[in-house]
Amino acid sequence: MKEILAQLGIKDHNNGTSTGNEWLPSNGGVLESFSPVNGQPIATVQTTDAAAYAQVVATAQQAFLQWRTIPAPKRGEIVRQMGDALRTHKTALGKLVSYEMGKSLQEGYGEVQEMIDICDFAVGLSRQLYGLTMHSERPLHRMYEQWHPLGVVGIISAFNFPVAVWSWNSALAWVCGNVCIWKPSEKTPLCAIAVQNIISEVFKNNHVPEGVCCLVQGGRELGEQLAADERVALVSATGSTRMGKAVAQSVAARLGRSLLELGGNNAIIISEHADLGIALPGCVFGAVGTAGQRCTTTRRLIIHESVYEAFKAKLVKAYGQLRIGDPLNEHNHVGPLIDKDAVQNYLTAIDQCKQQGGRFAVEGGVLEGAGYESGCYVKPCIAEVDSQLPVVQHETFAPILYLLKYKTIDEAINLQNSVPQGLSSSIMTLNLREAEQFLSYAGSDCGIANVNIGTSGAEIGGAFGGEKETGGGRESGSEAWKAYMRRQTNTINYSTQLPLAQGIKFDL
Ligand code: NAD
Repeated sequence: MKEILAQLGIKDHNNGTSTGNEWLPSNGGVLESFSPVNGQPIATVQTTDAAAYAQVVATAQQAFLQWRTIPAPKRGEIVRQMGDALRTHKTALGKLVSYEMGKSLQEGYGEVQEMIDICDFAVGLSRQLYGLTMHSERPLHRMYEQWHPLGVVGIISAFNFPVAVWSWNSALAWVCGNVCIWKPSEKTPLCAIAVQNIISEVFKNNHVPEGVCCLVQGGRELGEQLAADERVALVSATGSTRMGKAVAQSVAARLGRSLLELGGNNAIIISEHADLGIALPGCVFGAVGTAGQRCTTTRRLIIHESVYEAFKAKLVKAYGQLRIGDPLNEHNHVGPLIDKDAVQNYLTAIDQCKQQGGRFAVEGGVLEGAGYESGCYVKPCIAEVDSQLPVVQHETFAPILYLLKYKTIDEAINLQNSVPQGLSSSIMTLNLREAEQFLSYAGSDCGIANVNIGTSGAEIGGAFGGEKETGGGRESGSEAWKAYMRRQTNTINYSTQLPLAQGIKFDL
């Protein structure tokens, strides 16, 4: 890992604050990054103090004045080069993601690939920031709309996607003409430094002014500062619902804009018409991938009573074959949880489930012994519940899968929707009627609804996000770019008169 860290410009002690190429001095506290893979310290990061924060925001504001004047396709060209730089560093960055966050190496590479994909998407988008034209009711008048950049975009990200979420935001924000200030999770500060090093090279080669691509490091307080800062036009925040509610209130109090990507409680309906051969890997990957630490992790299976026992038996057998261990070893399916607090939350949820009447078809537990010294490796487990117990309503960020039984498709859809969150959902069925019902206005209430694939593993191109306590934001694909711009309506009079709208007369 030493070689990888050196390749990515990570030292034993790192400055955490940057305006692009420059790293600013700071007297903030020190963050120590530990790997959940082996419990070993990796390196330390100096957090951003008040003076460094003030300098970052002032530099970003200055940079915006210049960056917004560069034509969008030219900004897109710089984002294209950013995608190429990420291609060059994909292996090293993917390994660091896996080592610092604990996800499997394949998922670490996948996360960097997602960054590359969003760059490609943003390059095309830079020539497609379309506005509408309208017919005016007044003669010899023209009406149209334009989309302009907002200014400074603050990006607060979570530990579980330590690099991809930043790129979903920054690639789009940049082609739209904004400048960005990133506050990554305090649990994965080194991934952010590695990304900053990769991108700053591209920005330097293109003479991009300091302040377009900024990094600040710290914990919750720094996120709160960004949310409350009226110079930050848009705060895009990814993380827990608790965090999102705090950010939403703070940003709304100053009438700023927020884009929220929060917790999920995702279900798959397994119909009696399902192809169980597809359903099984879809459910198991969804439930145990990233050790249950994806916002789109499958947390509930709603299974038709006629296939319930048979499918449960298949799941139990599949869980018996899972290999848990070092995520950098590609032989393993499941890596560690991020830290011991996460392990505690997992154990508490298991206890609560038992107290509330849940029965475990596959028991959980913390793994000990050789290879598990970090204390962060847990067994993915499966609980059977008769109804949506309080613990089932809650997102526990760990590999706990709840099984529920249903009789009718209406009942299944109702169960799927009866949780506070609304991110991702799926149905496994070959029956056209129930698939269409699930996707209809009377079906799933989630931002993502799939047929015959699982709940996790979204691709760039579709808008990503969810409803209810998931926060309502949309990122990445479709028209998500509009969140990073302000709409301006323009009416131009090329007549010799000044007719008023609605036929109002005003004679002088
Ligand atoms: P978290 O809420 O603890 O922290 C996320 C980020 O918010 C961190 O950078 C943290 O420092 C910051 N933060 C915390 N409290 C804050 C506050 N009051 N004001 C401003 N910033 C604050 O979340 P986590 O444990 O890092 O990540 C897991 C959560 O993120 C899960 O709930 C998961 O579902 C969610 N998530 C959602 C998506 C999505 O796209 N919907 C994607 C990834 C993760």
